[in-house]
Amino acid sequence: MKIGFIGLGNMGMPMALNLARAGHEVRGFDVLAVPEAPLAQANSAADAARDADVVITMLPNGEILTSVAAEIIAAMQPGAVLCDCSTVDVDSARKVADQARDAGLGALDAPVSGGIAGAGGGTLTFMVGGDAESFATVSPLFDVMGQKAVHCGPSGAGQAAKICNNMILGVTMIATCEAFALADKLGLDRQKLFDVVSTSSGSSWSVNAYCPAPGVGPQSPADNGYKPGFASELMLKDLRLAQMAAESSDADTPMGELAAALYARFVEEEDGRGRDFSAMLPRFEQRHRKD
Ligand code: NAD
Repeated sequence: MKIGFIGLGNMGMPMALNLARAGHEVRGFDVLAVPEAPLAQANSAADAARDADVVITMLPNGEILTSVAAEIIAAMQPGAVLCDCSTVDVDSARKVADQARDAGLGALDAPVSGGIAGAGGGTLTFMVGGDAESFATVSPLFDVMGQKAVHCGPSGAGQAAKICNNMILGVTMIATCEAFALADKLGLDRQKLFDVVSTSSGSSWSVNAYCPAPGVGPQSPADNGYKPGFASELMLKDLRLAQMAAESSDADTPMGELAAALYARFVEEEDGRGRDFSAMLPRFEQRHRKD
């Protein structure tokens, strides 16, 4: 397939390279100069999009997606599919999909889980919103870039699945970290807590697969000085998107709201920026009840 790939950052570049290695004809574009890579580069987003069967975008946020979409939708050939893999707000995803459809294009929102390691290794999970025909067209590309693609429903459903998942993740990580810090104060050994919780009703991915306590459970960023992994500021971004969606859909999400507030403090006022989101554990360790 001919693919235009716009946004060649930490995630986009390895995804684009995997597509090129699989034999697809990829033309990439980024506003920043990108490191030398075996990938054809276009001079503009419109140029990357012009002859493509599928245009993939991997951009920082909904505002940038909206402006890039305005430029590329006008340039794309009828019947081509615009597939946005960025994590953006549900409203922007739906608006961009509507504009693409009005121009005779297919449209998918297909945010990912799996991080930079998943992008490099071609093991991402895609959560996809949009029509079945576009999903079928892009599926072979999801197979190259990832290990699983779930068609979640109409436009916006992919972003909805992503922020609901990450809201659960943010809340369970905070609960896990505060429970380990409480166990410390109670003199309970961390390994013993893990042995109990990981096989009991308190188990979750945060405990079992990504334990925030160093030296306990499988290897995780906690064993590497809390180097991300999944950085706290990216968790904050997703929790804020969840709160925007909750506002616009009138959903009551008190735990998600509190998780967003705690990660905002951690990133903006404490030492959380650039650290893995599981570094909430050392944060709680240092705190007292009335802090
Ligand atoms: P990044 O900042 O490394 O990459 C974004 C790229 O978009 C940058 O290279 C930037 O120059 C480029 N860009 C910005 N404006 C542009 C424009 N107008 N035209 C063309 N290019 C433009 O970010 P990333 O880590 O690659 O993340 C990309 C998206 O994936 C984000 O929405 C993020 O939330 C999501 N995501 C990231 C991770 C992760 O672990 N990094 C995991 C899951 C999802």
